[in-house]
Amino acid sequence: MINVQDVKKNFPIFKHHPDLIYFDSASTSLKPKTVIGAEKEYLEQYSANVGRGLYPLAEKATEKFEAAREKVACYIKATDSKEIIFTAGTTSSINLVAGLLSHMVNDGDNIVTTIIEHHSNFLPWKELAKQKSAKLRIVNITQEGELDMEMLKKTIDARTKIVAFSAISNVLGIINPVEKMIAAVKNINPQTLVLVDAAQAVGALPVDVIKWDADFVACSAHKIFGPTGIGILYGKSGILETLSPVTFGGGMVSETSAQHQVYEKIPTRFEAGTPNIAGAIAFARALDYIESIGLAKIRLHEKTLTAHAMKRLNAAFGNAINILGPTDPQKRGGIISFSFAGIHPHDIAHLLGEENICVRAGHHCAAPLHQALGIDATTRISFSIYNSEEEIDKFIEALQQVKQKLKI
Ligand code: PMP
Repeated sequence: MINVQDVKKNFPIFKHHPDLIYFDSASTSLKPKTVIGAEKEYLEQYSANVGRGLYPLAEKATEKFEAAREKVACYIKATDSKEIIFTAGTTSSINLVAGLLSHMVNDGDNIVTTIIEHHSNFLPWKELAKQKSAKLRIVNITQEGELDMEMLKKTIDARTKIVAFSAISNVLGIINPVEKMIAAVKNINPQTLVLVDAAQAVGALPVDVIKWDADFVACSAHKIFGPTGIGILYGKSGILETLSPVTFGGGMVSETSAQHQVYEKIPTRFEAGTPNIAGAIAFARALDYIESIGLAKIRLHEKTLTAHAMKRLNAAFGNAINILGPTDPQKRGGIISFSFAGIHPHDIAHLLGEENICVRAGHHCAAPLHQALGIDATTRISFSIYNSEEEIDKFIEALQQVKQKLKI
């Protein structure tokens, strides 16, 4: 069991806001002091550039930066750290893949995504399809709020170039059967490349890129206790080796002249310019932190909180509340989005905010999903290791007061 009071001591924000109830970790997590310390150490003690300098400080920075790459590779079970490209986060990673694969998509081809995606895993594909006169095919959800696997299979054909979907939805909370989905795609068309958006999954479940057989996996550090502005793109080395860079600049060429250039090996070829060095090093420290708690314990804690919150919400508000996604907490990450009859989510978020309870309101960058469900906006609560059942009980009480205040 996780001792929430002990965990809270690791997060300096609670010193500044002792009564804070933070239910917005799906948006960004709070940061433990070890992660903050890692950024500070780099900035104070060895803030040289990486991959270029020959003096000890630069060598130390490069060593730490490359060790961070190794750490991430190990965490997601990639066989080689050269398969890890540092990016600014999930959004950058997915846009990078769309750029890298752009040359493969032609008039009449199709790209498959799903209705539950975050805009980051929807708009790059929509845009690429438009530019190339290709079709964007969108997999729907079933009545039970799960991805329609039969529809997925029907959308794949000989002209499907890319399939992109998330491992956990940031709205429905649903955990998708990634391995099964990729196997289904590859079974129909082994040439189709599959990208998994693991933004919500990487801190909640074991990510195993080999077991998944994913061609690309994207995630951000800031959702798993790391800093903002850093994330990774995993790509199978056999595929990355065949791709040409789409961003050009310092550090990504091994030879260049006015006439010609030779690009660096992977992953350096895809990392033009000075990277977020402090961020990458702190990202690795965030993974250390997760490992020090244990991913299985984190998962159990979040599942217990989700089950408790769903039970309490249903008991307190009955038919007035509509919780999106599967009813079984086992099938969900620590995310619950709901609509409340007669109350706008913005009013809920605003009034709860006055009680120090942070929740998210809106379409959570998943407008197509909300449109498909016929809802403008929802309120979302999402949990992490610094949350407790007691906080959920306080939230339920506060929500009851919101209802009374607004005389619903
Ligand atoms: N995909 C999913 C499923 C997400 O939840 C998010 C963040 N809300 C993103 C992509 C985008 O991540 P970032 O803003 O860190 O690039």
